[in-house]
Amino acid sequence: MPADPSRVIANLRELAALTSDANGAQRVAFTATWQRARDWFADKLAELPASYRIERHRDAAGNSWVTLPGASPKSLVLGSHLDSVPNGGWLDGALGVVTALEVLCGIARDSDGRPPFTIRVVDWADEEGARFGRSLFGSSAFAGTHTIAEDRARTDANGVTMEAALAECGIEIDRIGEAASERSNIAAYLELHIEQGPVLERLGLPLGAVLGTKGVERHAITFLGETAHSGSTPMADRRDALAAAARLALEIRPIAMRHTDAVCTMGSLKTFPGIVTAVVGRAEATLDQRDLDAEVLATLLREAQQASRRFADEERCTVEWSRILSIEPVPFHPELIELCREAIVETLGAPAHSLPSGPLHDAAEVARLGVPTVMMFAQSLRGISHNKIEDTREEHLSQAVAAFDRLAAKTIAWIESQPD
Ligand SMILES: [Zn+2]
Repeated sequence: MPADPSRVIANLRELAALTSDANGAQRVAFTATWQRARDWFADKLAELPASYRIERHRDAAGNSWVTLPGASPKSLVLGSHLDSVPNGGWLDGALGVVTALEVLCGIARDSDGRPPFTIRVVDWADEEGARFGRSLFGSSAFAGTHTIAEDRARTDANGVTMEAALAECGIEIDRIGEAASERSNIAAYLELHIEQGPVLERLGLPLGAVLGTKGVERHAITFLGETAHSGSTPMADRRDALAAAARLALEIRPIAMRHTDAVCTMGSLKTFPGIVTAVVGRAEATLDQRDLDAEVLATLLREAQQASRRFADEERCTVEWSRILSIEPVPFHPELIELCREAIVETLGAPAHSLPSGPLHDAAEVARLGVPTVMMFAQSLRGISHNKIEDTREEHLSQAVAAFDRLAAKTIAWIESQPD
C-alpha cells in the first residue's frame, strides 16, 4: 500500500497549527514549542498499531529515532528536522520528517510489521542553529564533526548558555559525541526537503534529485591604499582602496558564471575612514564562493585572488586575504541519485532534473561518513524559505510524497542487491 500524501499534508497542517503563530513557525530547537512538536510526533507514533513493534528513543545529542526492526539489522534511514528558524515556514524540515513516518508506516503495513531490513526515521536536533548559531547540531554529533568546546561558549540572545538549554532538554553537552553509536548498520540515508530556492519553479518542475551540497570558501579581503584629501589629491595620484574592491565586486560575476552552478557573493564592504572628504585608504570586503565540485571551487578562489592582486596593482594598492571558513563539497551517492531520478520520472511521467544544494543539510553530515545518501527536493513557491510565506503547491507535495515513497522502495531493493 503506497504512502498516503493526503495524510502527510493533513499532519503537516496540524503541526503548523500547533507550533506557529501569526509570524510563522516557531519550532526553534531547545524551546518549549520545539518540544511540543516532538511530543506531537510521539503521539502520532502512539496511534500506530502495536503489531508494528515500533521502537523510539533519543540519542545523546537529542536526535529522535524511530525504529521498525526488520529481519536484518541493516537499516534504511529516512530523516530531516522538526526544528525551524523563528518566524519560519511550515515545510522546511517538517516535510521530510512527516513524510518519512508515512513511508515507514506503509512499509510496516506491507510487511505485517516485519520488513526484510530495519527502517528508521530520524528527527535531527537543531538543524537550523537559529538560537545558538550552530547549525547541524545533532547530525554533526552523530557524524563526529561536533565542537563541544565552542558549543560550551555559545549563548542565545538572552544570555542563556547552550549548555543550560541542552540540559533543560536532558542533553549533557559532554556526551553528545555518543550519538555516534547510532551509526552502526546504516546501509543508506534518504531525505526529502523543499528546495528553498527558485530553480525548480523556474524550470516548471515539481521535484528534483539532489547531487550533493556545495562546498564553501569564505574569505575576508582587505585592500590597502592611502587615505588622502578628496579636494587636493589629483586623480592620477590616488591609491584608492575602494576602487580596487569595487572592481573585484564586479569581476566575481564572470568568474562564477564560467561554471554552471557556481555562485560568488561579496556580501559586505566597509571603507575607512569612510567619510565624504577622504579617498578610501582601507576597504574590507567579504567573499563567499560555493560549488559542488572541489576543483571548480578551488578555481573560483584562485581566479578571485588573481583578479584582486591585478586590481590592487593597477590601483597602486596592496591586498590581503584571510580565510573565514572552508567547507568541502559533499557529493551524494551516484547510484542513489540515479534511483532518485528514476523515482521522479516514474511519479511524474516527465524527465528528472538534478541540481546541487546551496544550503547545507543534515544529509551532508551523514554522507560525509561514507553512508550512501541522496536527497530529493520539492519545488518552493517563489523560491522563498525561512519565512512564513514559504509554501509548496499541494499537488507538488503529493507528488513529493509519492516519489519519495518510490525512492525508499527502490533503495530497499538496492540494499538487498549489495554484497555484505
Ligand atoms: Zn531545513
